Amino acid sequence: MKTKRNIVHLPVYQPGKPVEDVKRELGLTEVIKLASNENPYGSSPSAKQAIIAEIDNSSIYPDGASVELTAAMAQHLGVHPNQLIWGNGADEIILMLARAYLEPGDETVMADETFSQYRHNAEVENAVLKEIPLIDGRQDLPAMLAAVTDKTKLIWVCSPNNPTGTIVTEAELVEFMDKLPGHVLCVLDEAYCHFVDDPEYPDSIKLLERYPNLILLRTFSKIYGLAALRIGYGIAQPDVIHSINLVREPFNTARVAQAAAKAALGDQEFVSSCRENNLQQRDYLQGEFARLGLSYYPTQANFIMVDVGMPSREAFDLLLRRGFITRAGWAKSPTYLRVSIGTAEANRKFISALEEVLKEAAVRQ
Ligand SMILES: *Cc1c(COP(=O)(O)O)cnc(C)c1O
Repeated sequence: MKTKRNIVHLPVYQPGKPVEDVKRELGLTEVIKLASNENPYGSSPSAKQAIIAEIDNSSIYPDGASVELTAAMAQHLGVHPNQLIWGNGADEIILMLARAYLEPGDETVMADETFSQYRHNAEVENAVLKEIPLIDGRQDLPAMLAAVTDKTKLIWVCSPNNPTGTIVTEAELVEFMDKLPGHVLCVLDEAYCHFVDDPEYPDSIKLLERYPNLILLRTFSKIYGLAALRIGYGIAQPDVIHSINLVREPFNTARVAQAAAKAALGDQEFVSSCRENNLQQRDYLQGEFARLGLSYYPTQANFIMVDVGMPSREAFDLLLRRGFITRAGWAKSPTYLRVSIGTAEANRKFISALEEVLKEAAVRQ
């Protein structure tokens, strides 16, 4: 048996370390995970009720087209139902986009660094990658545009960008989309849009009519706190949605996920309170990093990339021993950790552990 040549070298995705593993391996009783940008406040109580109610229907296949959820979301966003597609997480929309649009040898453009799944799925389809370095943690849209050729099919823009937390402004996006040739589909990944407070962040739904070659990605995994249920969505013009539907598995989202998402969407108070807490805690963490003399990329998301001034894997290990799981190993930023913004208590404890780690590292030098 021979595996496809273009996938044998691919890394198997390494998720943030699970809390239970760390407790067991290091004999710790309290472990705080600040590694996967999950919602530290859980999810809406109405989502939990919807999950419990839906369990009774477990013997029945889900509605493949997610009609009820689609109707609720279309109304919430002010778009037509045929402008929406659902995925087993936004990750699956990324997979379906690559599958629907990329043929072997086609080109695809993205930032370096950005969310790893764009690259991964493009490689599975044997596409040619053009990765454009960030400037100060921000995507360089003019350079990304300059990398477009007749062979380019997909261009990926992540805003806020994972892992740096920076956004693309409305002015930047409009200038970019005005110049982007019509044969290139721009995937604008807005997984973290609900956390943004920068007034220059675009209302991208409004841009969909103007740009038929734009698709927005969003998810219930982050501010809605439903990461375990795997449900995300794409918003675009109907013909783009149709193309993605051609490769979608018949029952790609679960019944409980659809029910929970619909209920979660109805509880915007929960969303607002998570957003407010995140903004407050973001300011706290950024203030503490400044006090400790650490540089960081000012973030618009629920995570921060901070320069800890030592190899990030070392800092990761030292923090892990103190019960904190963070994210290290960024190829282009070897001294940066990505830290999810936690609750007030978690963040306070994290900062005191980080201070210990920095002292320990200073003594060793
Ligand atoms: C978390 C994340 C996603 C997708 O999350 P799902 O859980 O698959 O919905 C997509 N894009 C970015 C940038 C993310 O960080």
